[in-house]
Amino acid sequence: MTTVSAYAATSATEPLTRTTVTRRPVGPHDVAFDIHFAGICHSDIHTVRAEWGSVKYPIVPGHEIAGVVTEVGSEVTKYQVGDRVGVGCFVDSCRECPECRAGNEQYCTGGGMVGTYNGVGRDGEPTQGGYSGAIVVDESYVLRIPENIGLDEAAPLLCAGITTYSPLRHWGAGPGTSVAVIGLGGLGHLAVKLAVAMGAEVTVLSQSLKKMEDGLRLGARDYRATSDRNTFRELAGSFDLIINTVSANLNLADYLKLLKLDGTLVELGMPENPMAVPAGALIFGRRSIAGSLIGGIRETQEMLDFCAEHDVRPEIEVVAPEYVNEAYERVLASDVRYRFVIDTSSLR
Ligand code: NAP
Ligand code: ZN
Ligand code: ZN
Repeated sequence: MTTVSAYAATSATEPLTRTTVTRRPVGPHDVAFDIHFAGICHSDIHTVRAEWGSVKYPIVPGHEIAGVVTEVGSEVTKYQVGDRVGVGCFVDSCRECPECRAGNEQYCTGGGMVGTYNGVGRDGEPTQGGYSGAIVVDESYVLRIPENIGLDEAAPLLCAGITTYSPLRHWGAGPGTSVAVIGLGGLGHLAVKLAVAMGAEVTVLSQSLKKMEDGLRLGARDYRATSDRNTFRELAGSFDLIINTVSANLNLADYLKLLKLDGTLVELGMPENPMAVPAGALIFGRRSIAGSLIGGIRETQEMLDFCAEHDVRPEIEVVAPEYVNEAYERVLASDVRYRFVIDTSSLR
């Protein structure tokens, strides 16, 4: 057992504070690594503030984790000391159900995936995430970070990257398809870059035109404000696929009308309240609403390799651990361009 420094929330209403967590001894199939960078995902905020249900406090958030291997267990075959590695949103699953066998561990039906934080590991201990100095994870749930991706830039790919890559692939974004991305935040800006890299024609639907220059620089062909009602009139029937990254409730009927025949709107954000949709918005145009949850280990590795090959990197603001509470407020105010990444060197 080792003790490492970390930032944790002790309740839904208190700021995160510096503390320590213990990491389990390195088992035969485990990889221990020093955490160099940890991204701040909006899900961290939803979770620590108990917006998604019960939380085991104290909780160390962080599921966009990148670092360097320091020790491997006796049976480990995939990694060696010194390798650049990452961990995303889960650190285990049953490994036996059809979903796990198919590489869709995030949809494990044999008890569910074990979250990187706020989960319970096989040892019965609560899992604690990446806002810390080091972590121990089974090698089957560890990703390899390609050489040409910096560890700071790799971190956001491990949640925001895979969460947007997976639905873009599943619903066939590519040449000849038109994709709209709602919300230009952590997930949204990577959705734009990935969809552009896949060859799709991309439009950003943002609350205002404040970030328009950025959106066009990231490769979007068009950028519209959803506060302007003309946007909905002018873009009616335009898209094959809409990726919704907004964490608040939107009037989905307005957005569904932007889909072409057979188009799909994919929910990635998880707003607190149920979504209300008039049936007509689906029936006329044979439209679908779908959801998508992160991605499996195999697909996450595929996404990292895709980013390495196609030069897709997140736009990040690297901050010190003690800035985390201010960073949370800025994320909540949509004042992030476009992902905060904690430099965890002072926690090692
Ligand atoms: P984020 O960086 O805060 O981005 C969300 C963006 O949504 C904002 O930048 C803003 O973009 C827009 N937005 C925020 N509030 C809005 C409002 N009231 N009305 C309209 N638009 C609003 O968050 P994120 O880290 O990308 O995460 C986005 C959501 O995805 C969160 O709910 C998170 O929990 C969820 N998530 C889901 C998965 C999954 O597997 N499905 C994985 C990771 C995260 P504009 O300023 O451009 O309008
Ligand atoms: Zn996340
Ligand atoms: Zn399973």
